[in-house]
Amino acid sequence: MTLTNIPIYRASTILSETLEEWESRKQNVIGSYGRFGSPLSRALESAVCELEGGYRSILFPSGLSACTHSLIGVLKAGDHVLITDSVYSPVRTFADQVLARLQIKVEYFNPTEVSDLSAKMRANTRAVYLESPGSMTFEVQDVRALAAVAHQSDALVILDNTWATPLYFKPFDHGVDISIHAATKYILGHSDGFLGIATANEGAWPALKSSAHEFGEIGGPDDIYLALRGLRTLAARMKQHWSNGLELAQSLGAHPAVDKVLHPALPGDPGHAIWKRDFSGASGLFGVALKPLSRAQLSLFFNSLRLFGIGASWGGYESLILSVETPKRMQSSLSFEGPLIRIHAGLESASDLIEDMHQALQEVSNLGAGRGARWQEGVLTG
Ligand SMILES: *Cc1c(COP(=O)(O)O)cnc(C)c1O
Repeated sequence: MTLTNIPIYRASTILSETLEEWESRKQNVIGSYGRFGSPLSRALESAVCELEGGYRSILFPSGLSACTHSLIGVLKAGDHVLITDSVYSPVRTFADQVLARLQIKVEYFNPTEVSDLSAKMRANTRAVYLESPGSMTFEVQDVRALAAVAHQSDALVILDNTWATPLYFKPFDHGVDISIHAATKYILGHSDGFLGIATANEGAWPALKSSAHEFGEIGGPDDIYLALRGLRTLAARMKQHWSNGLELAQSLGAHPAVDKVLHPALPGDPGHAIWKRDFSGASGLFGVALKPLSRAQLSLFFNSLRLFGIGASWGGYESLILSVETPKRMQSSLSFEGPLIRIHAGLESASDLIEDMHQALQEVSNLGAGRGARWQEGVLTG
């Protein structure tokens, strides 16, 4: 009997037929205990590893866990780590609170200036942590140039590759040592589980593997099954997320209520040239800086949307919207006059999404003043 899909293995104990078999298994760890993996987890790890172009992959219970264990796996007391200023904010919190408590010096660099990273490298810089494009603000990083700077000082390069998925950015071709995916997002793809996957090149693999094993990290079998299943449709889903996101972004670019659309696949975006050079596609996640709005107007806009759920996370089949706090950054250049929102374009029809977004903006423009209201210079009057 041959099954199309690998079954879910629920196993802590893996029995050996003989004492000799047990002793031989214990020596190489894998296969001796369920915490070190099952045929199901191996299948997902090797599939993602092949897509990423790395040496080996390992699973974590969440995307954040893959981020934190990659950092802790390569850093020790007295080391210095440089992190992109546009990093996913829970990683920033982990670095500022946990890494700092472990006597690891944490510093941030400007994601779009390679020279800022060069200037901040120290003799004890052991890791450079990238995320491209950045969370909430979508700055594209020149990963190859940043990796070259890091490697000059023997620092390892860790990249959060979640936005691009393993399909649209090949981290190991750009000098990355450890690449991370919050599989919770596009790989599972249906907002129904949590999983993280980190992939290393041969040099970084021992540190990554021991970080997972020594902290006792393991993915749940149901989530691993969902990730493997998600992987089968990832390419088909990503095409639609990409085109829906881009069409929506284009339709918003010209709207008088919009100050700036933050989407690397738009020709006018500051990161567009690098995106075009390094990526083979875009996901459905992007940012929009609105022109100044009152609190009541922003509420009316959100509450008038019918197809966009208000909620955290992204990468599922459904469209989402989130109002973003001004991100905590060291860069003073990052200031938006109006509210910043983040949109995830799901798999619905693009025209339905565009129509919904525009009807909600129209509701705002109708607010209070009836037919007299106008978007003027982007600020609502009347
Ligand atoms: C969501 C996210 C994570 C964390 O993933 P979880 O599975 O929610 O822990 C990490 N990095 C990025 C860029 C994310 O968007």
